[in-house]
Amino acid sequence: DDGLLATKDLKKYFPVKGGILNRKVGDVKAVDGVSLAIEEGKTLGLVGESGCGKSTLGKTIMRLHDPTDGNIYFDGEDISDAGKSRMRKIRRNMQIIFQDPASSLNPRMSVAELIQEPMKTLTDWSKEERRDRTLELISEVGLQEGHLQRAPHEFSGGQQQRVAIARALSVNPKLIVADEPTSALDVSVQAKILNLLSDLQDTYDLTFLFISHDLSVIKHICDDVAVMYLGKLAEVASTEEIFDDPKHPYTKALMSAVPDASAESMTDRILLEGDVPSPENPPSGCRFHTRCQEYIGEICETDEPQFTEPSAGRYCSCHHYSGST
Ligand code: SF4
Ligand code: MG
Repeated sequence: DDGLLATKDLKKYFPVKGGILNRKVGDVKAVDGVSLAIEEGKTLGLVGESGCGKSTLGKTIMRLHDPTDGNIYFDGEDISDAGKSRMRKIRRNMQIIFQDPASSLNPRMSVAELIQEPMKTLTDWSKEERRDRTLELISEVGLQEGHLQRAPHEFSGGQQQRVAIARALSVNPKLIVADEPTSALDVSVQAKILNLLSDLQDTYDLTFLFISHDLSVIKHICDDVAVMYLGKLAEVASTEEIFDDPKHPYTKALMSAVPDASAESMTDRILLEGDVPSPENPPSGCRFHTRCQEYIGEICETDEPQFTEPSAGRYCSCHHYSGST
C-alpha cells in the first residue's frame, strides 16, 4: 500500500540563465529524485537545512510547480501531469498552509471572505452551506464569529495562522502540506498552533506533510520523518528511530544538535562543517561526502548510494548500509 500520497523519483529543476544571450546554462536541482509515501491519517515530517529543497518538494507535490520528472500519486491516482480542470478537483483534497500568514492572506479580504474563497472556487456548495461551514470552522480554530468581518492585519500572527488553517480546511481536504507553519510565530504561540493542528487531524482524519527545520516541532507532531539533503532524501524512519537511533551520518549530525536531558549529548555534538554545496553542481557520488564525518572511502565520491533498507521499514542512502562495501 502506497498510502494517500506517494512520490516516485520526483524531480523539480529550475533553469539557470546567464551569459550575454541569457541562455540556459544549467539547472538548480532543487528536488532531485525523491520517493516517499504517507499513509492516510499520518504525519510525515520533512526536515533538512534551509535550501535543501523541502519547500520546493511540498509545492511540487501540491502541483504549484510542474514536476520536471517522476510521479506524484494522490489517492492512487497519478497527478503529475494532471491539467487545470483535473487539478481543481484534486486541490479540494489537498491544501497547503504557508509559513507566513501575513503574506499568504490577501489583506483586502475579510476573514469571512478568506475562509470562503476556497469553498467558492473548489466546491458547488450553496451560500448557506458555505456560511454554516464558516461558522463551524471559526470556532474550531479558536476564533469568534465577531472576527469574521475584520481584516487579517487586525490580528496577531497566531490568529492569522488560525485563519489560514480555517481557509485550508474549509473544503474538507484529506492532505495538508504545512510548510513551516509555526516558524514565523512567537515561541509562546507555536505550541498552541501545533496542538490545534493535532486536534484538527484527529477530528478530520487529516494526513500531513509537515515541513520544518525545527526538530523539536517535528518530534512533537510527526509519526515518521524524512531527512532531506541537497534535493534528495538521506533517511526515512519512524520519529522514534530518527531521534533515538539515527543511521545516516547527516541525520546523526542534525540530531546531535538537539538539546536533550542527558549531559553527554552536548559533548557528542557533531558540527557540520562548511555550507550546503550548490544544488546547481551537487558533489559527485554521495552528495553529502564533502561534509561527512564517516566518509568510508573513494566509493563515497564516485558512486551514488542507493536508498536501501538497513532494517525493516527504514531507509537510508549511505554506502555504509548498502552492502556495497
Ligand atoms: Fe558519508 Fe559515504 Fe555514507 Fe555519504 S555514502 S553519508 S559520504 S559514509
Ligand atoms: Mg522553506
